[in-house]
Order: sequence, then structure tokens, then C-alpha cells
Amino acid sequence: MDVIDLDQRRREAEGPAPEYATCPCGEAWFELRATPDKPGAVCMTPTGSITGYAGTPYCIGCGERYVVG
Ligand SMILES: [Zn+2]
Repeated sequence: MDVIDLDQRRREAEGPAPEYATCPCGEAWFELRATPDKPGAVCMTPTGSITGYAGTPYCIGCGERYVVG
């Protein structure tokens, strides 16, 4: 008899953690604020995945600026 561990399969299916930015406070959402020369704006795929942005990201949790890279 085979015993299938569904939780194990789910863990494997999830794979490595997604690559997204997080603030040191743990927040993963950022507000794009306009700069004097650029609007807060994004470009995205037809399904809504963000592929680029203009402006400066600020954490919506703690309000700190997120420094890219
Ligand atoms: Zn934060």
C-alpha cells in the first residue's frame, strides 16, 4: 500500500519562495510615489504581473522608502 503525503506534495509544489521584495518590517506591498520628474506608474503583462515601474517605492506597512538592489 502506498501512502501519499499530500502535505509533502504541496510543499514540493510550492518550491522555493517567490522572488519578491520585502521591507525589513516584513511587508511585501509598496506604494509607488511620484518623483518630480516621473509619475508613480507601472508597466505589466496582460495578466497583471508588474514588469517595470516608475517612481519610488515606499512600504505601506511602516512608510519607509524601499531601496532597490
Ligand atoms: Zn516596512
